[in-house]
Amino acid sequence: MQDVELRVPDILRYAARQHGDLKISSLDEDGVTRHQSYLETQARVRQLTGRLEALHLPAQSRVASLALNTRRHLELYYGVTAAGHILHTINPRFDAEQIAFSARQAGLSALFFDPAFTAQAAIIAEACPDIRAYIVLGDGVETRDQGIPNVIDYEGFIYEAVSSDGPANLSERDGAFLCYTSGTTGDPKGVLYSHRSCLIHALAASAPGNFNIAPTDVILPCASMYHATAWALPLTAPMNGARLVLPGGKLDGATLLDLCETEEVTLAWGVPTIWKTVLDAAIEQGRKLPKLKRVYMGGSAVPPDLKRAFADKLDVELVQVWGMTETSPLGVIATVTGASDSLSEDERADLLTNKQGRIPFGVELKLLDDVGNELAQDGKKSGRLMIRGPWVVNQYFGHDTPITTEDGWFDTGDVATIDSLGYMQITDRTKDIIKSGGEWISSITLENTAVEHPDVDMAAAIGLTHPKWDERPLLVYTMKSHAEISAEEVLGFLKQRLPSWWVPESAILVEDIPLTATGKVDKKQLRAAYADFYKK
Ligand code: ADP
Repeated sequence: MQDVELRVPDILRYAARQHGDLKISSLDEDGVTRHQSYLETQARVRQLTGRLEALHLPAQSRVASLALNTRRHLELYYGVTAAGHILHTINPRFDAEQIAFSARQAGLSALFFDPAFTAQAAIIAEACPDIRAYIVLGDGVETRDQGIPNVIDYEGFIYEAVSSDGPANLSERDGAFLCYTSGTTGDPKGVLYSHRSCLIHALAASAPGNFNIAPTDVILPCASMYHATAWALPLTAPMNGARLVLPGGKLDGATLLDLCETEEVTLAWGVPTIWKTVLDAAIEQGRKLPKLKRVYMGGSAVPPDLKRAFADKLDVELVQVWGMTETSPLGVIATVTGASDSLSEDERADLLTNKQGRIPFGVELKLLDDVGNELAQDGKKSGRLMIRGPWVVNQYFGHDTPITTEDGWFDTGDVATIDSLGYMQITDRTKDIIKSGGEWISSITLENTAVEHPDVDMAAAIGLTHPKWDERPLLVYTMKSHAEISAEEVLGFLKQRLPSWWVPESAILVEDIPLTATGKVDKKQLRAAYADFYKK
């Protein structure tokens, strides 16, 4: 067979050739939705590639983006990688220290930034004095006196450049994207995706049993392009000849509802916190989304109630996905298999609602107990979840030693069960585990049960030091607007549904639950805020 390299820029070349007139929609920073075909995008990418080559950076230089989900960010995905460099997608929601750390460790040569992230760009300018070029993603944008030297605007940067396809000897083993994961302790860690891993992952993710992407689909990634390549959607959409709708940064319910409607979106992705606001807005405004078929949600556990509400109120299928920055991110996906299809309707619904999903080809999973013995996959025994595969991390960027076991298994830091049908269920993250009197309490189960109460909006369960039981859970919750529910009522509701010793002694009503840079509940902050709660 022909020994063809698997490379990211070939995806857009394919789309420009085969689906050239198909238009990408991009909600730009000025609030205007612009349309640009794959052919036009490829022409601009070739100009960008040529202009980057003219900078004469060494091969595999790290070129960073501080940008939202826009057409210009998409151009960087393809132009930077075609030029033989690595696109470091910096998370602008990281704090100043994390931004400076990841930029410094990556050793940046150039930085592209949205005008909205000028402050973050200034932090990087201070941390990385060797950066050769600063390009603001806009047309004639003013950024003088902001602490960033010699900023050029993007349109000027690519204007009149000599178009290029980049070096012909680009290897599939070369790095394509670098993404830092925040973790909840220590410095951020960089995961470097190769051209090869991106291609294999995107091909696998597109398959019918996974994201099931058809050329007729209209795809809306609300997962950020600075976080695990937005679930690879900037690659899978052009690869499948699907239309791509880029929502910019306004990920609120009303904006996303409008965008889904006007762009006739058929498939969408994102974290549950974002899609919950879309559901709330749809219910409040009495709107439906007849074109929308499925929303893929992951990043944190999807409350079963949310899945049911999407089906009942919007007639949209919610499909849960589990993954990590370290796994590109697709790990498991809650789609039906031959075996689960033959279960009774209730059993099947129960499985697809409560479990994170089945294991796709390309991913291997296993469970280990505390001393490293492999556990049976019986749906009951829970243990440390290990993963292995061609799109799973081997070692962190800037580190010399692999973080996997000798035979290639990566410890996810999650605790899970796997059942006999091959469906995996996360019970906790190791660092969020609540261990009370030597027994585990699943924080995810506590949270999912609490939000089943019609008046509870969001809930977070944390483990706190306790003088008698080592740790006890505490539930922090918010109420739905116009609802009224006391802590006693919430606890009473939990008591009717869970083992009594799982139910926290207290629940605390708060205005807002803090979220991390990736839209997940910030349990670190909550644990710090309530550290002494049971000590008194
Ligand atoms: P960060 O911690 O920076 O947000 P990641 O996005 O890589 O980094 O987080 C991955 C983690 O998110 C997983 O290890 C898991 O704990 C959690 N997670 C992702 N998807 C799900 C899901 N569907 N259910 C439960 N937890 C999830």
